[in-house]
Amino acid sequence: MKPAPFTWSAAPTLDAACGTMRAGGRAIAGGQSLGPMLNLRIAQPDRLVSIARISALCGVSETADDVTIGACVTHAQIEDGQAPDIGQDILPRVAANIAYRAVRNRGTIGGSLCHADPAADWVTVLLALGAQALTHAPSGSRIIALDGFFTGAFRTNLTPGEVLHAIRIPRLTPDARFGYYKICRKPGEFAHAMAAVFISKNIARVVIGALGTIPLVLMGAEATPDGVEPAFRSRTTMLDEVTQHMQLTAVKRAFARAAA
Ligand SMILES: Cc1cc2nc3c(=O)[nH]c(=O)nc-3n(C[C@H](O)[C@H](O)[C@H](O)COP(=O)(O)OP(=O)(O)OC[C@H]3O[C@@H](n4cnc5c(N)ncnc54)[C@H](O)[C@@H]3O)c2cc1C
Repeated sequence: MKPAPFTWSAAPTLDAACGTMRAGGRAIAGGQSLGPMLNLRIAQPDRLVSIARISALCGVSETADDVTIGACVTHAQIEDGQAPDIGQDILPRVAANIAYRAVRNRGTIGGSLCHADPAADWVTVLLALGAQALTHAPSGSRIIALDGFFTGAFRTNLTPGEVLHAIRIPRLTPDARFGYYKICRKPGEFAHAMAAVFISKNIARVVIGALGTIPLVLMGAEATPDGVEPAFRSRTTMLDEVTQHMQLTAVKRAFARAAA
């Protein structure tokens, strides 16, 4: 199938992109999720605006406390260490296991979050790491904790004309432990089950993704090896037993990785 007709332009600046989007244009970054949706005519925008070359979206910066990655930084750039890591080689390792290299060369971290696929790696991992979305719109900028950014499967609380500018991720403290595990039938496929575990002196957070809706975030006593299973089962009674079993296996393996 071919896409429905659309016009295409490349925005030179963030404000130009916001303007076109406010007038009804749809942003395209790497096109690795939107492209298939256009081809299947699931998405039929009249107007596409490429944001991939806007320099304000392609930068990275760091402070002693966090790392900020521009929305249009690609998975491959993160895999290759062209963005600073937050510690323990977490970001390059996650990036390297997204799809395959051709997809990673074009797909962006921001596109992944804005697409908000429940089975996307960055969605689960960055929720567990306590990241924030930095957005830009003519009306002003916003900083949104990621657990308030996703409103459902393939839905975020970005408003019309608002662009995801960058993602800010806290650095790991020396006491922090992180583990991530996903179950895929074949390497490079979207996960059938996934879990990320983040434990530090003050925070215990488990995020379970690939549930067909926004990931489940468990905190405190529910985010411990003993607490996670009853908490997960009580919130996912609609899931079949096989899926529950796979998800709990991913959780156990993520805990094991965090402990290693
Ligand atoms: C074969 C294949 C396998 C894949 N496997 C995986 C996988 O295993 N794990 C995984 O996580 N992902 C996977 N993906 C998805 C891939 O990671 C995409 O790169 C990502 O989901 C979208 O990034 P993109 O830059 O291509 O976004 P695009 O496709 O360009 O855009 C996606 C959506 O986000 C919007 N958007 C993009 N950027 C912004 C922005 N800065 N501000 C506002 N809106 C924006 C667009 O309007 C669009 O609605 C796979 C894709 C393919 C084709």
